[in-house]
Amino acid sequence: MDKIVSLCKRRGFVFPSSEIYGGLGSTYDYGHYGVLLKQNVKAEWWRAMLQERDDIVALDAAILMHPRTWEASGHLAGFTDPLIDCRTCKLRFRADHMEQSACGRKPSKHPGEIPDCDLTDPRDFNLMFQTTLGPVKDAGATVYLRPETAQGIFVNFKNYLQFSRKKPPFGIAQIGKSFRNEITPGNFVFRTREFEQMEMEYFVPPDEAPKWFEHWLEQRMNWYTELGLRPDHLRLRAHAPDELSHYSSATSDVEYLFPIGWSELEGVANRGNFDLTQHAEFSGQKLEYVDTASGERYVPHVIEPAAGADRAALAFLVDAYDEDEVGGEARTVLRLHPRLAPVKVAVLPLVKKDGQPEVAAELHRELRVRMSAEYDEGGAIGRRYRRQDEIGTPFGVTVDHQTLEDRTVTVRERDSLVQERVPIAELADELERRLRALWSSPKLAGV
Ligand code: ATP
Repeated sequence: MDKIVSLCKRRGFVFPSSEIYGGLGSTYDYGHYGVLLKQNVKAEWWRAMLQERDDIVALDAAILMHPRTWEASGHLAGFTDPLIDCRTCKLRFRADHMEQSACGRKPSKHPGEIPDCDLTDPRDFNLMFQTTLGPVKDAGATVYLRPETAQGIFVNFKNYLQFSRKKPPFGIAQIGKSFRNEITPGNFVFRTREFEQMEMEYFVPPDEAPKWFEHWLEQRMNWYTELGLRPDHLRLRAHAPDELSHYSSATSDVEYLFPIGWSELEGVANRGNFDLTQHAEFSGQKLEYVDTASGERYVPHVIEPAAGADRAALAFLVDAYDEDEVGGEARTVLRLHPRLAPVKVAVLPLVKKDGQPEVAAELHRELRVRMSAEYDEGGAIGRRYRRQDEIGTPFGVTVDHQTLEDRTVTVRERDSLVQERVPIAELADELERRLRALWSSPKLAGV
């Protein structure tokens, strides 16, 4: 993980937030390449949810919601983690994370393992951030930063039935920021207090819920493997009955083998009709589907795949990170799926003279209307390749003296390092073809 953190900082993917003030506990800012990477992750999620299906529609709900939402959803009473304080070192720990936590006095030990530790009993700590709506600070003005995007979907269910002409099974998908006052954030962007979720609520006739639960488990596993995560680093883990959230009758986590061990990447839950029933009761509105032809009415059950954009981006980075040797020199390379790579192609003149920069700059202008492209003419060609390898750019296009004679360029492939000459006239189509091609991690073959 240290190598990933340092690459992310060196190459402008992710910085600690407010760093000049010493940072703010586990908050991070995404730099240029981080923005592009996370944007690509989210775009692939939208593609899978919207473009490749016709049973899901999109939503972008407000972060601040009516406070009754959180009473109805159970978050106000139950969205808690068990908190333990140490009176000696003043650190706070999650009671269920003691094995992963370090003692404040002796970090090689877990809390409670040395005589100095003076731990309190666990008590419930609500993870929702509170703020005040408007200038009056009274109880009625207290609102919460949403701890999940899902509730924005449930409170809009009725709107969607009316405008979208969808009937169950259908889904509503949303990507947006969520906030949790985590007791022990950490492991870089794996667990932060502000993060982006990619959630979809799939409304189904009650008797079809088990079938759709299985469907979404399979779909979501496929999404990660098609985007290049190594299948032997991915697994599904079903929650034991005592682990299930208050709303869930079945949940399975998609887990990835992070450097910190197997950890949740995404949760797929069968939420039953809990949320719609609760919101119907608290709002006094009918939240049910009525089939106009048969007159049949029911409260749909909900299958929810809930993923984190930051966690997914981290998993793709971890999976892609590699070190090898090229021409006797060590290189660091991100073997990202080309569709996820922040930059698809770098255009590089071999030398900064003889008309090569002009031809390369012109080529760059042509390519960038079709894909994310960079132009770089500074420094030795080997160094420029290395820089692109480190940010995961799948293709390097070099303009050399031959280009000026026959209008061909060299295309260098990041993983195989194969170099091929391609006519400039065919270049954009050829690159797009390669970007669309099926891809699997060369790390699988032990490259
Ligand atoms: P965990 O057990 O890791 O706390 P959770 O089960 O509470 O996670 P969910 O409520 O199921 O998480 O949220 C769905 C997804 O949102 C998670 O799988 C994860 O990808 C992401 N997520 C949740 N909490 C955080 C966080 N603090 N930082 C980054 N991503 C998060």
